[in-house]
Amino acid sequence: MRVRETGGSAVVPNEVSADMILWGGNIMTMDPKRPGARAAAIKDGRFLKVGSETEVKALAGKNTKMIALRERTVTPGFIDSHQHLSQYGTDLLQIDCSPRRCKAIAQIQQAVLKETKRRPAGEWIRGVGYDDTKTQDQRILTRRDLDEVSPDHPVFIHHVSGHWAVVNSRALEIGGIREETPNPPGGVYGRDPHTGRLNGILYEQAEFAYVFEGTNSQLPIMPAFSLKERMKGIRLASDRYLASGITGVHDALVSAQTLETYQESFKSGELKLRVYMLISVEYLPHLPALNLRTGFGNEWLKIGGVKILADGAIAGRTAYLSEPYIGSEERGILAVESEETLHELIRKGHEAGFQVCVHANGDRVIEMALNGFEKALIQLPRKDHRHRLEHCTVVTPEILKRIRKLKLLVTPFGSYIHHHGEKMIPYYGARRVEMMFAHRSFLDYGIGVSGASDNPCGPYEPLLAIQSCVTRKSAAGEVLGAKQRITVEEAIGLYTMASAYASFEENFKGSITPGKLADLVVLGEDPRRVNPDEIKDIPVEMTIVGGEVKYRPG
Ligand SMILES: [Zn+2]
Repeated sequence: MRVRETGGSAVVPNEVSADMILWGGNIMTMDPKRPGARAAAIKDGRFLKVGSETEVKALAGKNTKMIALRERTVTPGFIDSHQHLSQYGTDLLQIDCSPRRCKAIAQIQQAVLKETKRRPAGEWIRGVGYDDTKTQDQRILTRRDLDEVSPDHPVFIHHVSGHWAVVNSRALEIGGIREETPNPPGGVYGRDPHTGRLNGILYEQAEFAYVFEGTNSQLPIMPAFSLKERMKGIRLASDRYLASGITGVHDALVSAQTLETYQESFKSGELKLRVYMLISVEYLPHLPALNLRTGFGNEWLKIGGVKILADGAIAGRTAYLSEPYIGSEERGILAVESEETLHELIRKGHEAGFQVCVHANGDRVIEMALNGFEKALIQLPRKDHRHRLEHCTVVTPEILKRIRKLKLLVTPFGSYIHHHGEKMIPYYGARRVEMMFAHRSFLDYGIGVSGASDNPCGPYEPLLAIQSCVTRKSAAGEVLGAKQRITVEEAIGLYTMASAYASFEENFKGSITPGKLADLVVLGEDPRRVNPDEIKDIPVEMTIVGGEVKYRPG
């Protein structure tokens, strides 16, 4: 028994009394050894006991905080295994060009014009969330639209996919992009199909050059947000995530600057949820020298895998496919120089002891990544590598077999059927959509599949994603690829245990099990009992991280 000194008098703590007890509810533990329980006790940020009310209440002491669940449902805290908390954070500091706010190009113009009046000429104006398929104009925003309202301020409007953007002439000039400038490797400068002139659209690497800092102190064309702004962004974004039941995330693109933001947020006690960081492959050359590898950190902040971006985006129609997009000759964009480059990056990440996470949407690039993983694992076999195919959207039975054989994990978009729905058919065709976001197939093949939103490219709410995976219904109510439906339990499993597994943390996260971190969500209703079309409307009534209440509706 430990004795604690407190200013002269020794206090003998009651070792067995809990800090908090939640009782009288429907607890979905996601622990196969005990799937359901009525109560849970928490001590020192971890679950102490899970079981019947009588068993658990026996651990109540005079300082135990008692929370009556009143028959509400509890699940483990949701873990999003692929999203961009840091990017979403700074997005919240920019103009919201999403269809919620800007239904037409004219509204984006008005918002930009308003900003030009608030800022000195020369200062950057940034917008996010633009979705050409959801604005009324039936055409894409161009530099001319932006020039009309902002001749002197450089403007950068990010497409919701994150894989392309539209800039004005001033921004092109600052980036040194002229009519005769050749496309950068892995990127494209968009051009007007009639005149052949630059239209201000920047694809893939052409866009990233504006946003992401490279190694060797190569700065992005747009000035970065300050550390203070970035930390504010993390706070704002985390609050939204917590309000949707998220207690942990895998940040799928971490740069030196992002690492700084997280470290400082953790140090100052502002980090409210747990972060597993996928480091941008740009930094790979620096990591082996430090002997830094996957798993370094603590239960709040951890170095995860190395992230390689190999192709474009599903909603941006730049995923690299084996067969062209419907009604087009285009097959998407390979975001690395060649298949060999991709293999080389996979090999290096693998050799350096990292979990290697390859963003691969289209079936063509998935095959290339599989070839790369196969080679790397033959050259240097490693058990339990848990290498990942990020998104892994368009698959075939052949691809599924190879993924299973190589024991790779996948992180498909959880909410895209709901969010993008019927617009997928004209791009990919009904046959391909049957095998996109293939949650059922992954489970049936025994492939490790986890929950992922890719926020801000998709909505972050896990309950919405769970509904989408269970119903395969678009927001308008159309069912797409019904064969890929999974059960509510399976969908919750993706967002809890499977995501914990995807970061090697299943021994202390992902289920309500004694000894594990006390991360949980209290839901107003049981997702298994409501109409599946209404899962997204279930209220999140409390989110607890490490035994502390981090969210409760005001
Ligand atoms: Zn992503």
